[in-house]
Amino acid sequence: MIHAPERVEWPPTGKTGCILFAPMGFVQRSVMCGESRLTDVGSQIVLNGWAHKVRDLGGLFFIDMRDRSGLIQLIFDPNRFSNLSELKSESCLAVSGEIRERADSAKNPKMPTGDIEVVVSAFTILSHAKPLPFPLSDEDQMQNVNEELRVKYRYLDLRRPAMYRMLALRAAAIRKIRAYLDDRAFIETETPVITKSTPEGARDYLVPYRLQPGKFYALPQSPQQYKQLLMVAGLERYYQIAKCFRDESQRADRLPEFTQLDLEMSFVTQEDILQLTEGLLRTTINELIVEFGLEKEPIEPFERLSYDESMLLYGNDKPDLRFGLQLFEITDAVRDSGFGVFKNTVASGGVIRGVRYPGGAQLSRKEVSVLEDFCKEFGAKGMVSIAVDSGADSAEGGIVSEKGLHVRSSILKFLSPGEVEEILKVSGAEAGDLICLVADTYGTANNALGRLRNLIGDRCGLRDPKKLKYCWVLDFPLVEWSEEENRWDATHHPFTAPKEEDLVYIDSDPGRMRADCYDVVCNGTECASGSIRIHRADIQSKVFSLLGIDDKTQRDRFGHMLDAFSFGAPPHGGIAPGIDRLVMLLTDTENVREVVAFPKMGNGYDPMMDAPSEIDEAQWKELGLNVTKK
Ligand code: ASP
Repeated sequence: MIHAPERVEWPPTGKTGCILFAPMGFVQRSVMCGESRLTDVGSQIVLNGWAHKVRDLGGLFFIDMRDRSGLIQLIFDPNRFSNLSELKSESCLAVSGEIRERADSAKNPKMPTGDIEVVVSAFTILSHAKPLPFPLSDEDQMQNVNEELRVKYRYLDLRRPAMYRMLALRAAAIRKIRAYLDDRAFIETETPVITKSTPEGARDYLVPYRLQPGKFYALPQSPQQYKQLLMVAGLERYYQIAKCFRDESQRADRLPEFTQLDLEMSFVTQEDILQLTEGLLRTTINELIVEFGLEKEPIEPFERLSYDESMLLYGNDKPDLRFGLQLFEITDAVRDSGFGVFKNTVASGGVIRGVRYPGGAQLSRKEVSVLEDFCKEFGAKGMVSIAVDSGADSAEGGIVSEKGLHVRSSILKFLSPGEVEEILKVSGAEAGDLICLVADTYGTANNALGRLRNLIGDRCGLRDPKKLKYCWVLDFPLVEWSEEENRWDATHHPFTAPKEEDLVYIDSDPGRMRADCYDVVCNGTECASGSIRIHRADIQSKVFSLLGIDDKTQRDRFGHMLDAFSFGAPPHGGIAPGIDRLVMLLTDTENVREVVAFPKMGNGYDPMMDAPSEIDEAQWKELGLNVTKK
């Protein structure tokens, strides 16, 4: 649970508001609902807000009244008011009354205002509420409400204190980011939203242009090109809280439009950007943890590892460093194994890699087959396992190792004692462990085992939600081969600079080029990506060619960049941490829609606005558009 601190001189604490109701029934509050305490007993107050929970106990009538500061209990005398039945949940109210202490037995220590209540002397219903689509005062029941229904009535969903706190946290994060960067001479600059395609690896959202039928703007996948052009313009330090638009298959952690802190700096090395970003994130997050009472440990300096190391040790470039269980490799030990799968995999250039599952030796055959299927789901041809017990609790069958460990596996009969000893040694297995092995290409084995490692981490309770383990992943390859498109693809984006010393491979061995490209990763999630950019037209053009963009297309799509780089462009680089991701991590939210005020559903649909929607005949004509219905 997080609480949202109020930090400005609003609400109007202690204002002695008039308690006579104005003609429209509105009278301004003197205090917020969550503000009063025992020391205020006897005060006459006026409240504005909503009827959060209405309880009609016959002789007594209570309302928990809510505004964004919290709740307070109101008590009404049914003999005094004849229209209490009109007071429905979520009607909007103005209320005046006197604060009194609750009877001891009625005090509620869970509520900040739980020692007091307001004896209502007058009220007016500013606005009636129809029966609600969901019980928004009951958090337990809200957990089971259909998500699309919540998004359709988002203006009600957002009335829930938990949602308000999330928005307050998000706003505070942005405020702190701005303060940090403003203090360091960054210039916040807006860049266009209707523009030309900026590739970040997704499809563009296109906007037809009425005055030139057949021509389209694209919504930016990021402000990447503009921020680089601002460096050419001599701004030196830019940032923007930027909306980015990417038309890609929807996933729980993706939205078609999302928010990034986009920043760029000139005359800097990679190290400068790492230090600035790390300082910014640590300061912002550590302050938020304290101010919002988040159940998180403060973040330590970020660990650093190279892309190659990350792949080798964790199987992916988004390592969760809250726990160890690094992947290991036994390829050399089983090169000539009697187990055909191992031998043949090595012979065909593949690897045998594995991960240790602490306590996994106890899993039933069926449970182990779930793990095998899990690996297959992520591309592996299979998974074999070896259970390790202490000599004492060993089951029938199996063999005993030099150290007295009892080893069971269906592949044991094919392995020599030397191979078994080596597997035990390299895996670091102890009594109770299950050794999980995948024989495949390096990439496939890593993909399956990296995911399996996270699953094991979850099952063993090693992914502690209190910990935020941030790290840098550095030195990404510049390009990767796309089987689908049969060409090189930019690992980050086409504006990323190859490392100077690797430029020599651009024609002979492009896959070998590394880039000054870096990601921030936290708890297994990518949180920011950035790079040092190309600032020379000749190199940019060469990289475009490598990516299969011919000269004409280079001019058509990126002529402005090539031109700009021929007018004294400074060396520059930047990064873009995701704001939505940041709020998700801080609030332990897995669904990105929960941290955005007005999200779209997974299929891109906005049920509240009913968007996207049809356009009328005149608009089709005006835009010169025609659609071929599938
Ligand atoms: N434009 C990049 C992105 O959106 C970030 C960057 O390279 O600064 O991921």
